[in-house]
Amino acid sequence: MRCYCVLHHGQALELVETAIPEPTGTEVLVRVQAAGVCHTDLHLWEGHYDMGGGKKLTLAERGIKPPLTLSHEIVGEVVAAGPAAQAAGGVQMGREALVHPWIGCGECAACLRGEENICIKPQALGVARPGGFADYVLVPHPRYLVDIDGLNAAEAAPLACAGVTTYSALKKLGARITTDPVVIIGAGGLGLMAIEVLKALGGKGAIVVDIDPVKREAALAAGALQVVDARAPDAVQQIQQATGGGARAVLDLVGATPTVTLAMGSAARGGHIVICGLMGGDLTLSLPVIPMRPLTIQGSYVGTLQELQELVSLVRRSGMKPIPVNTRPLAEANDAMQDLHHGRVVGRTVLVP
Ligand SMILES: [Zn+2]
Ligand SMILES: [Zn+2]
Repeated sequence: MRCYCVLHHGQALELVETAIPEPTGTEVLVRVQAAGVCHTDLHLWEGHYDMGGGKKLTLAERGIKPPLTLSHEIVGEVVAAGPAAQAAGGVQMGREALVHPWIGCGECAACLRGEENICIKPQALGVARPGGFADYVLVPHPRYLVDIDGLNAAEAAPLACAGVTTYSALKKLGARITTDPVVIIGAGGLGLMAIEVLKALGGKGAIVVDIDPVKREAALAAGALQVVDARAPDAVQQIQQATGGGARAVLDLVGATPTVTLAMGSAARGGHIVICGLMGGDLTLSLPVIPMRPLTIQGSYVGTLQELQELVSLVRRSGMKPIPVNTRPLAEANDAMQDLHHGRVVGRTVLVP
């Protein structure tokens, strides 16, 4: 089978031909039908995260070393299963499924709570284990397969990351999303997904902030109440005005020094800021601001298997619209990564083997 792999960080993905893996134990073999390209794939390709102040966290420090097969947004068809997976039942050959990639060790306290996404020894597909830029992917257990009957494979794939990340983050904001507009910073794939998920959850609406006029236009087309240019000198005032005096709920999908600074500046007293983006940087904070204003600043990292199941059932129930998806052949993996890197992608690019 083909896979497009990171053999050296920062260099083009290379085509590697390997044998189709044979599932053992509880493993399931999935033939990839769609594999989304996410910003995290760019970080994994570059090999580091920007921690601010000139510091970098390398993937090697997180125990992740090439060769890497990227993509954690996978839809595919079940084609084989290990004996224990078959014994567990529910493994139907030919079944089309969305793969939950945020897999943990299964043994730590977080995993036992069902929060495998924050496991101390993560085994995520497309990160620690081979992902979807390949003809086939091995899934450790059938319980990570979520049925998508009736949904389009390429449109459903982004639910595994962009979808569950924004769903989990919006849930953290609680009931205020139904009474107050949510300020969404970043109108890339996650931003457009957040607008749709917010609508499906009965949200009041989204005020979307981005530096790129093309992405702001896409946000308006997706139903944003208002858009704000993050680089406008009065961006803070525009957000305060649009939210009637300050944002009660902010979702920062970029997670860079300027965006978090903007979020802090435009939040109302009692505001809640959830940061999902991993763009990087750092922040110096006057501590009295946290109790006196009083702000909640919370991180959110992808989502749990249960949240992905909830999201897929929400998509079914609400008829939630998919984000714009452009499909490309798997062989164009490098071009797709470059286009995302240079900000040329509206919505999501999904590779099809
Ligand atoms: Zn992702
Ligand atoms: Zn664990």
